[in-house]
Amino acid sequence: MVPKKKETANEKYPGGSGTSSLQDTAEKKPFRSPPVLPVMKGQTDGERILELRKHQTELETQAGELMLRALEYERKNRVLEEEIRQRKISDTLLKNTLSLLNASLESTADGIFVVDQQDKITSYNQNFVTMWNIPPVLLESGENERVMQYLLPQLRNAQGFLTRNKELKAHPEDESSDIIEFNDGKIFERYSKPQKIGENVVGRVWSFRNVTDRRLAEEAKIASEIRYRRLFETAQDGILILDADTGQIVEVNPFLIEMLGFSRDQFLGKKIWEIGLFKDIVANIDNFVELQHKEYIRYEDMPIETADGRRIAVEFLSNVYTVNNKKVIQCNIRDNTERKLAEEAQVASEIRYRRLFETAQDGILILDADTGQIVEVNPFLINMLGFSRDQFLGKKIWEIGLFKDIVANKDNFEELQRKEFIRYEDMPIETADGQRIAVEFVSSVYEVNNKKVIQCNIRNNTERKLAEEAQVASEIRYRRLFETAQDGILILDADTGQIVEVNPFLINMLGFSRDQFLGKKLWEIGLFKDIVANKDNFEELQRKEYIRYEDMPIETADGQRIAVEFLSNVYTVNNKKVIQCNIRDNTERKRAEEAQVASEIRYRRLFETAQDGILILDADTGQIVEVNPFLIEMLGFSRDQFLGKKIWEIGLFRDIVANKENFEELQRKEYVRYEDMPLETADGRRIAVEFLSNVYTVNNKKVIQCNIRNITERKKLEEDLVVKAAELARSNIELQQFAYIASHDLQEPLRAISGFTELLVKRYHGKIDEKADTYIDFITEGTTRMQQMIQDLLAYSRVQTQVHEFVLIDSNVSLDLALSDLQVAIKEHNAIITSDPLPSIFADREQITKMFQNLVGNAIKFNQPGVVPKVHISAKQDENNWIFSVSDNGIGISQEYADRIFKIFQRLHTRDEYPGTGIGLAICKRIAEQHGGTIWIESVPGSGSTFYFTIPKRKKETNYERE
Ligand code: ADP
Repeated sequence: MVPKKKETANEKYPGGSGTSSLQDTAEKKPFRSPPVLPVMKGQTDGERILELRKHQTELETQAGELMLRALEYERKNRVLEEEIRQRKISDTLLKNTLSLLNASLESTADGIFVVDQQDKITSYNQNFVTMWNIPPVLLESGENERVMQYLLPQLRNAQGFLTRNKELKAHPEDESSDIIEFNDGKIFERYSKPQKIGENVVGRVWSFRNVTDRRLAEEAKIASEIRYRRLFETAQDGILILDADTGQIVEVNPFLIEMLGFSRDQFLGKKIWEIGLFKDIVANIDNFVELQHKEYIRYEDMPIETADGRRIAVEFLSNVYTVNNKKVIQCNIRDNTERKLAEEAQVASEIRYRRLFETAQDGILILDADTGQIVEVNPFLINMLGFSRDQFLGKKIWEIGLFKDIVANKDNFEELQRKEFIRYEDMPIETADGQRIAVEFVSSVYEVNNKKVIQCNIRNNTERKLAEEAQVASEIRYRRLFETAQDGILILDADTGQIVEVNPFLINMLGFSRDQFLGKKLWEIGLFKDIVANKDNFEELQRKEYIRYEDMPIETADGQRIAVEFLSNVYTVNNKKVIQCNIRDNTERKRAEEAQVASEIRYRRLFETAQDGILILDADTGQIVEVNPFLIEMLGFSRDQFLGKKIWEIGLFRDIVANKENFEELQRKEYVRYEDMPLETADGRRIAVEFLSNVYTVNNKKVIQCNIRNITERKKLEEDLVVKAAELARSNIELQQFAYIASHDLQEPLRAISGFTELLVKRYHGKIDEKADTYIDFITEGTTRMQQMIQDLLAYSRVQTQVHEFVLIDSNVSLDLALSDLQVAIKEHNAIITSDPLPSIFADREQITKMFQNLVGNAIKFNQPGVVPKVHISAKQDENNWIFSVSDNGIGISQEYADRIFKIFQRLHTRDEYPGTGIGLAICKRIAEQHGGTIWIESVPGSGSTFYFTIPKRKKETNYERE
């Protein structure tokens, strides 16, 4: 106890009388010592002796008094000593009491707080300070009011607390007890008693006890009891509670009643061994005693019989425990029948899951959910990723590089643990062989045998994506087919008969709009009235799954009646049955059929009247199925001698298809042509034929058509032609040789004539007479002309006899050479010569120069009088040839002479008009032909001519045969 006023204990001595006798005495009779006797002046000795005696008596009296007083003091002293001793004893007692009180106060678990009547704090213990957590400064002030102000805000019901305090102040004698609840949930019990001295109330003692834990425990206890009761009531085990002393059943739960089929009353109060049904378990009191002793008993699989005679297997489990100082035995009785079935089911399920795991078409990883270690991997994943089982097992998933995008580190794994379900679509991972594939990663957390595992399903999306794309592609393809089909198509809902789709071709065919079809039921559309005009017919359509109507007449929007073929199929699209109706306009087909017939008639006629022999063979068997009159006539055999025979059986074709192998070649090649096969006719004539075979299909049947043409005549003609051509060539060569030799040899005598004519002129000109001179002149001119003609003739034949090998030449160069030869003529006539760039060609350079020389020379020569000659040379090309042209503004030629001018020595004018021998163009023609080309003229008389000649583009070998 903390002393509040120190003096209280020392000064106010509660055990004492309160007054000191020593003090009192001293105050009552103050002691005075006798005065010293002074010597008085003038005093006699007697007087002095008298006075001394008197004084002595006084002193003696006084001594006696002092003796008495000393005795008195001595007595009083003894009393006082006794008093002090007593006081010391009681002081020690008091100290003991105080320390006991103090120790008691401090050792109690309660907080103690004392105030006096003036509301001043007189005492408190440390517990009080701790419990209330009051700052020491407040307590030291001694003001209860201040402490109160500090405490109130912590209380849940401050008002009630204050009210109670006031009541107690008004009734100082009252005792009280109440509960104080704190805002923070603490609960104190408060007791208060008046502090009394004797009958007087001097203050009040408060004591506080923290009962928070106890309260909570009590509440928990109640809750627990409720909970146990509820467990008992709702337990899915049968429960019996027995009095452990007597064995009587004191409680039975609903589940057991239900399980065994006995009523609650049939259990309660009975001793357990009295209940037959437990006879195998605790059938007698001895067994029960064992139960009492053992405190725990378990029987597995005990057979018992229910009220309705069913025998079930139960597990029996008993525990002894104490409830409210009373021992009870709790017996749990569990129907094992279900459990056993469940266990078997569990085993079956595990086998099933194991099989699923092994055969799954998804990759599966099982991870330990705590550590992240791979505990299982299925064959599919091993196969998918190409890593071995050992490369997975025991690894932590974030240690396996391939999952780096998914669970690459421990943090991600913790996310996996936490979320319990994660799905990544399209994660790229790399397989052992470096292939990058896209997977779907799905992870689920679940518990197996009280162990959390994470199952990761890894599905290769690559295939699925391809499949999806293929699906889309297929749909697009079918949609395109649908859109572009050359048949009308209707899609019906197979359940309702409603039209769900119609293709453009049908819309076009029938002339109704898309909206006139869609959503309608088929039998509501009048136009199909002959097909599925009513619901019954439609049901037939649904049932049969395939229906075909040929040649149904229907009417189009514009009133045309057409014949259609109607064909319906039932099939399933995305789990939905649909009916596809194909509607084909037969009108065309019929027309085609008719056309076919017409065509057959036509071909038959051709076949009958052909001027070629024709055989038709069955392409499979080789049998002759038809032969035409011309062939019969040509070969002289009868129709029956052909028909039905196999072609290799007919001797006469032995050189063509004499055996089966050759026929097979005929079948295979589909086109065979033999030229010039010798055949013998029925009357022994040998003829030559051309044999030509074609394979084709008629009405789904392959046939081989053999055309056999008699080429005997043609061959003979061809042979004659060859002979004649050879003769012609020979005579042509001879002629050329003759012309050359003749003109060459003719020059000799001519030279002799001209030589002598020159002598005549020299010696006799002007010496004989005038006539002789004239004759000599004629001879001179004649021989000169003759010489010129012979030279021309030689030049002409040389075009053929003196040809060079064709080489690539620049025709511009040839033209330039020609023009330089023509310089005199050009100057003389002031001619203007122009040209376009000319091509390079394969040709004889000298001959092309000669060609330009002749054509340009003529163009200048045959000018119109008074007109300046203008000549233009150019070239163009077509597919095969270069086409050169030389144009002039000369006199021109009438069309009728266009051929004649190219002949030798042919001219249109006299030598007086225009000089020349008429050989130039003949030479040009020969040069053009020599090069494989031609020459011609286009001209308008009086305004000019254009000569054209062609030179083939490709190099052509000369056909000249050198001698
Ligand atoms: P020549 O020039 O010696 O008479 P050609 O064979 O060169 O012999 O020509 C034959 C004839 O064709 C000429 O006589 C002439 O009548 C006619 N002829 C040739 N070239 C031309 C031309 N450019 N314009 C008009 N007539 C021509």
